[in-house]
Amino acid sequence: MQMITASVGESGSNVGTDSALVQVMLMKVTRPPGLQPPGPYLNSYDGDCGPKTKAAIRAFQNDQVFVSAAGLQSVPNPNAKAGLVRPGDATWAKLIAKLPADFAGLRALPGGKIVYLAASPAELQARLGAVAAMTFAPAFRAKVQACLQRLHQMHGIAAGVCPQGDRRTFQAQYALLAQGTGVTNAGPGESNHNFGMATDIGFAGLRWLRSAGQPDPNETPWLHHLTAQSNAQALVFWEALRSVGTGAAVGAFRGPLSDRPHLQNWNDANVSMGGRLAALLQASGNMRWSYAQPVYRSDLGLGGAMFDVGSASKIWNLESTLTQATLTQARAAAAAANKRPAPPAASAADQAAMRQSLRAQFDLADTHWEAWTPQ
Ligand SMILES: [Zn+2]
Repeated sequence: MQMITASVGESGSNVGTDSALVQVMLMKVTRPPGLQPPGPYLNSYDGDCGPKTKAAIRAFQNDQVFVSAAGLQSVPNPNAKAGLVRPGDATWAKLIAKLPADFAGLRALPGGKIVYLAASPAELQARLGAVAAMTFAPAFRAKVQACLQRLHQMHGIAAGVCPQGDRRTFQAQYALLAQGTGVTNAGPGESNHNFGMATDIGFAGLRWLRSAGQPDPNETPWLHHLTAQSNAQALVFWEALRSVGTGAAVGAFRGPLSDRPHLQNWNDANVSMGGRLAALLQASGNMRWSYAQPVYRSDLGLGGAMFDVGSASKIWNLESTLTQATLTQARAAAAAANKRPAPPAASAADQAAMRQSLRAQFDLADTHWEAWTPQ
């Protein structure tokens, strides 16, 4: 159970996180048998210590703090103050003692007003085990594991890698982009994910307590349920992930700020992902490549000039923008350079064959993903 940082109640500090924790305790602690009304002292929580919360603190103290062992009421307790819960005082200790075991691991993030149940070490181990079975560049896998361990150590959260949050094949990247769901803006070979140097970490199964006190039973990795209730409170969790992931103990980096679950191995703020893919294409296959945003250029394996061949997605989908006219021109130039007669004009079949060849270069780069370097 997480300790409150300051007092809650009448004239208390009433920090939102502390208030939320005390409120939930008052929801989970019930009146002793025979006292009216039966049941808990509060029915909902919101992190704001208002009149109902203050009255509930008083009622709890009257029933269970300012009483003697024999049940006499209005018994002074020097380590408690009427109307207030203070860190570690007698009221706090009694709340802890009366909490049902199922709710003994209540947590709340600093700056947040959402209470959640701490994850067990076994849950953390299961997440770490899943990471061990995934595909990452070795150096980055260590950072992913460190991030999950640190989140559990600091906040009692067993976060995990999202579906498709480890190394993505070029095809997986293409499919994700083609879905148009906004999960990614990068084409095949243009994401750190394609090289095992990025991950998406989420909060699947986070047992945060709804305002009426029941734990959400099946939260998604992306916190869809919590976001539907309060985007601001969901952001507190994403901020915790960002802070841990980029902290000294983990040493990962962020991508775009809007990409909430994303962490990567290095800072790509000033790096051309297209340029790096062109370098990998050239190192993996038998064509020369360059990148001129937003299109790639290639010598088509002819050893001469470079020609626009389209975006990574177009090339991957056998839709390279290379025209028959340009292919005709490229082949004529290559023939002239070798002092051979110009071949006939490129046919539609020639164009289709060249699109296959360009795609084959991407397949080679996909196979050789471990050779990719950030510079
Ligand atoms: Zn990502």
